[in-house]
Amino acid sequence: MSFKSVAIDGPAGAGKSTLAQRLAEALGFLYVDTGAIYRTVALAVLRAGADPGDEAQVIPLLEGLDVRMGYGPDGGQRMYLTGEDVSETIREHRMSGAASKVSALPAVRAFLLDFQRLQAREHNVVMDGRDIGTVVLPGADVKIFLTAAPEARARRRLLELERRGQAADFDAVLRDIRERDRQDETRPIAPLKQAEDAVRVDTTDLNLEQSLAGLLALVKEKIAL
Ligand code: C5P
Repeated sequence: MSFKSVAIDGPAGAGKSTLAQRLAEALGFLYVDTGAIYRTVALAVLRAGADPGDEAQVIPLLEGLDVRMGYGPDGGQRMYLTGEDVSETIREHRMSGAASKVSALPAVRAFLLDFQRLQAREHNVVMDGRDIGTVVLPGADVKIFLTAAPEARARRRLLELERRGQAADFDAVLRDIRERDRQDETRPIAPLKQAEDAVRVDTTDLNLEQSLAGLLALVKEKIAL
């Protein structure tokens, strides 16, 4: 039996996680948030007191790494590091930059490639990240590049942080988003870029429901459900 896959890539704050999760629910597919996997590796590196940007310090840690994925009663993806549920901790603001740094290391990307592909071999998936359509699942049935203006993404990120009770200011969040875009787009390995056969969806002027309806229509065009 062959499984279906929907790849959703795009910059931070374009609404990827929320939309991919809602899309997966609507389709009855498994949702795989690959950013959460990079964040978990980053947390392990920080906890070991290593520099997430220094491959020589990170490589020795990969061997003993015990990163697992599971699903909570609400269907949300949970991340486990050596058995501990770290799903909340990896969302802390400081983890974004660390994940971006660790994800630029070739050894880390190679280490996580099979882990991600395995999910798509065993399930119908909606997988979101930066290089899903280009590197992880180049044969995905549907590829979507989800984007939005940096200011719109910063406003959404700010709301998300406020909901989590983490105070932040707009300018700092916007700066952080631009910096992460720059890091993700300019890294030599698996940079953030639209796959040639991906459909670009700009959500700057769309709300969640409008965006979701657009994505569902795209998927239904390409996959007979
Ligand atoms: O999507 P999220 O913001 O949780 O991702 C955290 C970081 O992990 C991103 O800044 C990006 O650098 C990295 N990432 C990646 N490849 C993926 C998913 C995330 O490089 N497939």
